[in-house]
Amino acid sequence: MNKELVKKLSNAFGPSGHEEDVIEVINEFAQEISVEKDTLKNVYLNYNEATTLPTVMLDAHSDEVGFMVQDITDNGLLRIIPLGGWVVSNIPAHRVIIKTRDGKYVKGTTTSRPPHFMSSAQRERKLELDDIFVDIGAFSKQEVEEKFHITLGDPIAPEVYLEEITETGLFMGKAFDNRIGCYCVLETLKALKDTELQVQVTGAIASQEEVGCRGAKVTVNKVKPQLAIVFEGSPADDVYDDIAHPQGVLKKGPQIRYIDSGMISNPKLIELARATANAFELPYQCAVRKAGSTNGAAIHISEQGVPCLVLGIPTRYAHTHYGYISMEDIDHTVLLAVAIIKQLNEQLIQNF
Ligand SMILES: [Zn+2]
Repeated sequence: MNKELVKKLSNAFGPSGHEEDVIEVINEFAQEISVEKDTLKNVYLNYNEATTLPTVMLDAHSDEVGFMVQDITDNGLLRIIPLGGWVVSNIPAHRVIIKTRDGKYVKGTTTSRPPHFMSSAQRERKLELDDIFVDIGAFSKQEVEEKFHITLGDPIAPEVYLEEITETGLFMGKAFDNRIGCYCVLETLKALKDTELQVQVTGAIASQEEVGCRGAKVTVNKVKPQLAIVFEGSPADDVYDDIAHPQGVLKKGPQIRYIDSGMISNPKLIELARATANAFELPYQCAVRKAGSTNGAAIHISEQGVPCLVLGIPTRYAHTHYGYISMEDIDHTVLLAVAIIKQLNEQLIQNF
């Protein structure tokens, strides 16, 4: 477990379309693995156009859910729009960071109405995003612009720093959806670096997944994979309601996803993943998801059709400031991906 890499990836600022800080971390930790970028801020690791082997693409996305400055009020508050899917009631009374055009980071707090100033009608009314602003401690629009250098279009992300929970082997932090996928792509490539394989393995870290898999629509065009493994920080369901049989429990291994709202997984590839996990005595969970989707939605229907395996690392409280994730699940996900890739060859892939 490379805890330093998890920490830097999780802490990095990178709402959709503004993933450059994440790319910097990937660059720093890629070591001998080649890194290429494109104009959409997608990153390609170990890309090899000249290969004659079938290409396996390891996908993850670098963006996190965040906001953008939509307007600055006369009294110096920032009006915001969401980048990605937020539950409005999770937004107020949290710390955020705004990245300015000159690369400065400004800290702010999402506003909330104190109980003293709430009528009973206001208490019952559903909170709307228009009720919430970001307060940076300014008094006027002029101050926001001149003293803080904040302008319309500046991106905003939650301000949270990774913590290790040593008692139970968990991390608490932000953006595990999907910096933990970025971690798995890097660590899988490193684990396979000196192994003779019958496939070319290329990492593709896509931008802008949270706004509709936009980066992956481009990565898949460049990499042209014959097979893809999608790593995701998937929402855990082990602490909600009273689910009889939860499918995303922390410390029970990666989720092998059968279906979600964007993809029905290739059954033969699922069987290979399950058989591999069983053979190597790696824990896993099977997920039949009622909602949600991943970059697999874009990848599996690209080119001639790409068999696509989604490995989800259960993450509590996805799309909020504070997530929880298990260190052993992360390690088991990388081990499973490595074991699957070592078996792949042209004939097997054609059979999917
Ligand atoms: Zn997400």
